[in-house]
Amino acid sequence: MNEEFQFETLAVRAGQERSQFNEHSEALYLTSSFVFASAGQAARRFSGEEEGNVYSRFTNPTVTMFQERLAALEGAEACVATASGMAAILATAMALLKAGDHVVASQSIFGSTQQLFGNILGKFGVLTTFVVGTEPAAFRAALTADTKLLFIETPSNPLTEVFDIAAIAEVAHAAGALLVVDNCFCTPALQRPLAFGADLVIHSATKYLDGQGRVLGGAVLGKKALTDEVFKFLRTTGPTLSAFNAWIILKGLETLKIRMAAQSANAMQLAQWLEAQPSVERVFYPGLASHPQHALALRQQAGGGAILSFVVKGGREAAWRVVDHCKLLSITANLGDTKSTITHPGSTTHGRITAEARAAAGIVEGLLRIAVGLEAVSDIETDLAGGLASSPAS
Ligand SMILES: *Cc1c(COP(=O)(O)O)cnc(C)c1O
Repeated sequence: MNEEFQFETLAVRAGQERSQFNEHSEALYLTSSFVFASAGQAARRFSGEEEGNVYSRFTNPTVTMFQERLAALEGAEACVATASGMAAILATAMALLKAGDHVVASQSIFGSTQQLFGNILGKFGVLTTFVVGTEPAAFRAALTADTKLLFIETPSNPLTEVFDIAAIAEVAHAAGALLVVDNCFCTPALQRPLAFGADLVIHSATKYLDGQGRVLGGAVLGKKALTDEVFKFLRTTGPTLSAFNAWIILKGLETLKIRMAAQSANAMQLAQWLEAQPSVERVFYPGLASHPQHALALRQQAGGGAILSFVVKGGREAAWRVVDHCKLLSITANLGDTKSTITHPGSTTHGRITAEARAAAGIVEGLLRIAVGLEAVSDIETDLAGGLASSPAS
């Protein structure tokens, strides 16, 4: 599709291939395999001499439409879809790294990503050093002769720290390494890491790309030469996106921009309200002037995003009281939904890491994270006010 179209247009139209029936909405191709016209065509399809679908572990027309649309939105040359966000990260690591290679990753990353790089890949001889992501110099200091990949997630979870993609890309490229950015929190509606020099973008499509908490999915985007390597791993090993999930997320992409704009605006309003509450010690949200990387966020992002966190005075007891008072917000660690969710990171998403590691990462006992949805902000405030008012510090 014409790449000159605006984001809004690409979101609803890019990638669509109509079948012989000329359907208006994208078709769902629920088939595991495809039939060939002849023995010769089967041979040509299998060898790759002729383009076309063979088997849905390799390619599927609904999945292809999703890949094309997301690539258009990220401004990427190519996209490969995966069964989940973690499958995207695993496939990227398996495709681009080998025993003896070294990775530098920001220490504030998604818990399973930390486990993958910190524990699982180590068994296969790939070692990872975790650094403070807000310091591009920390990445440079951690480089070794074997460093092949730098991995960041910005804004970070749950403290919403913002990392300088362009500066970290420069460090990576000077060392002959690649920069991979997990763009799950901002989505291409608010941030396009490839434009700042990142080599690959990762998505958990489970989150905002679907936007309605229905299915799991993931994607890897960037130059075709790199995504082709990821595709080779996927087609052989199988953590590919199902046609059904691709079809669901395709529809999610159509409303991505308006959802992100509305949920970001809600988050900004809620962050300002929280900052004014006497029982709240501190609010972390990139859209606030009080955020340490506010200026960088303004440069790199088209909005603060829909995730914020805050510290309640009175530690875990006070924080849990706020959670337990909630009647509207869902108590769940999931995010990216139109329904707001609240979680206590210290005892859930970051509960498995040691107390020292948690403290080093700034995950204090009074910290709560909210993924702000599309409810009226006044209703979210009312839901939080009860628990905050009963805090001993208020
Ligand atoms: C959820 C998440 C993932 C993992 O995605 P799944 O679809 O759950 O596998 C990776 N990175 C970030 C930032 C996430 O929030």
